[in-house]
Amino acid sequence: MRQKRAKAYRKQMLVYTHTFKFRSPYQVLIDDTLITKCHSQSFDLVKGLTRTLQDEVKPMITQCCMQVLYETKNQDLIEYAKGFERRRCGHFGDIKPSHECMKSVVIIDGENKHRYVVATDNERLRFSLRKTPGIPIVYMNRAVMVMESLSKASEVVSVEKEKGKLSAGLNDSGKSKDTKKEGEAGAAAPKKRKGPSEPNPLSVKKKKKVAKTDGTNKDEEENKEEGEKKKSRKRKHKKATSTAETAETSEQITEESTSNTAADVDVDESAISTDAAPAVEKDEPSSE
Ligand SMILES: [Zn+2]
Repeated sequence: MRQKRAKAYRKQMLVYTHTFKFRSPYQVLIDDTLITKCHSQSFDLVKGLTRTLQDEVKPMITQCCMQVLYETKNQDLIEYAKGFERRRCGHFGDIKPSHECMKSVVIIDGENKHRYVVATDNERLRFSLRKTPGIPIVYMNRAVMVMESLSKASEVVSVEKEKGKLSAGLNDSGKSKDTKKEGEAGAAAPKKRKGPSEPNPLSVKKKKKVAKTDGTNKDEEENKEEGEKKKSRKRKHKKATSTAETAETSEQITEESTSNTAADVDVDESAISTDAAPAVEKDEPSSE
């Protein structure tokens, strides 16, 4: 039973921290009614608050509530309450009833501006505080400290915020998905283009090799780069053949290579011969 309640309080405090931006140590504004009750029951108020809110607390009391306690002339009670931080309420010299004072301190511009947890045994005060969202209310139920469940006003705000988060999340995810899709499409398109484009030229070049002289002569000026590529590939093929034939005779290879270079030079008349010729010369010793 206790664990269940602790879990419920933890969940509730998560709403206050997430939706209403409460931060520990929680400022707990305790009024004279609860202090009096706890003192009479020798209930450790701070310990109880810490256990209920499940985090550090900063107990506070307003000047008006303190004034009420002074008037009891219960020195023990007064000393007990003096241990709490005094909250200046601006009513000094014009002391208000404690519930009025509490309300004026907690609710500023229709909200719990300073994020107070209110600890009171005043049912009337509790009732009026429920109308403003984001006010955790703690009270004593006989000898047990209890936190009120989320007020309807708080719940509405919390639900709306969650909805906003959800929709925002959906929108964000949608946007990100769109961008991802775009990115994927962008990445996929080039890949596809690259994929077919690379193998196709190879096959095309092989075909062109047969009709190379014709093609190169015709398209000399149009595509010099392609011609270079073709040449380099040709050489590679020759290298491959030469490496395979190395066992037979190196002279034949040199003859072939020289003849190749001659052929290349012939072809290069149109293209760039200087670049192609040294490359072949360099490759020959490495293959040998
Ligand atoms: Zn006051």
